[in-house]
Amino acid sequence: MSQNRVEIVEVGARDGLQNEPDILPAETKITLIRRAMEAGITRLEVASFVNPKRVPQMADAEEVIAGLPDVEGVTYIGLVLNERGAERALATKVHELGAVAVATDSFAIRNQGQSSNESVAAAKAIVKMAKAAGRSGQVTISAAFGCPFEGAVDSDRIVAMAAAVAEAGPREIALADTIGVGTPSQVKALIAKVRPAIGDIPLRAHFHNTRNTGLANAWAAYEAGVRVLDSSLGGLGGCPFAPKATGNIPTEDLVYMLSRSGVETGVDLDALIDGGRWLTEIMNRTLPAMVTRAGNFPHKPAADAAA
Ligand code: MG
Repeated sequence: MSQNRVEIVEVGARDGLQNEPDILPAETKITLIRRAMEAGITRLEVASFVNPKRVPQMADAEEVIAGLPDVEGVTYIGLVLNERGAERALATKVHELGAVAVATDSFAIRNQGQSSNESVAAAKAIVKMAKAAGRSGQVTISAAFGCPFEGAVDSDRIVAMAAAVAEAGPREIALADTIGVGTPSQVKALIAKVRPAIGDIPLRAHFHNTRNTGLANAWAAYEAGVRVLDSSLGGLGGCPFAPKATGNIPTEDLVYMLSRSGVETGVDLDALIDGGRWLTEIMNRTLPAMVTRAGNFPHKPAADAAA
């Protein structure tokens, strides 16, 4: 990947929708994924294989995935938290399993019924299962910048977790600010500390905008050398097991910031904004993405003429 190119992983259909009170039909989820793909996004988190009693919004994972088009060069990611979830995911056509290791016991137990160490062991097992099945596997370290229950998280703990999951050979390790507490200086410091512990495994970053630092953190991660960023169309999102967690950084706002800064994303922002407007109608409320409300800039001449 070229040095000034960022791969965007669209997580709206999973992280975006899992916290919505209303459960969208599979068909609408498929349309959301297709809209992002039509805008040029080639890697997408499309569902999670978790207990439907705990996360009813994701109960139709198999149905959603069965309805997705097969497109050369597109990677569908299924989120899994344990071996049972991995078995379900591997029975579908997802290309990649995304495992989650949680930095603190309090959050790990609430999020996935595991201690932090158990979540690390499960993530390693999931990556191995994915690879044995000819798919790819990656690990997200959740609550890497702070925990909703335990507060500040020691960066040494994150480094140790990253080194442990690296042993399983994931395609990538992500640092996730699950509850949106991180700041750019913390992002840069944590990345610098984690990188020497994981050899040549690439880092991804996942930010929520709970305290309005999300885009600044994404830029800090870019400056620190991260070339893969998660975001969700419209800025949908939250976490059902993390109080006050709000949406992911909006894909539209992230693409605007990167492309106007000379960073390639391969994404057509006008098409993305159209998708964001469609999603706004579906959700029937104002979504966090600001570029979708304000519009692209510079405007297309035709749009000016129409106005
Ligand atoms: Mg998240």
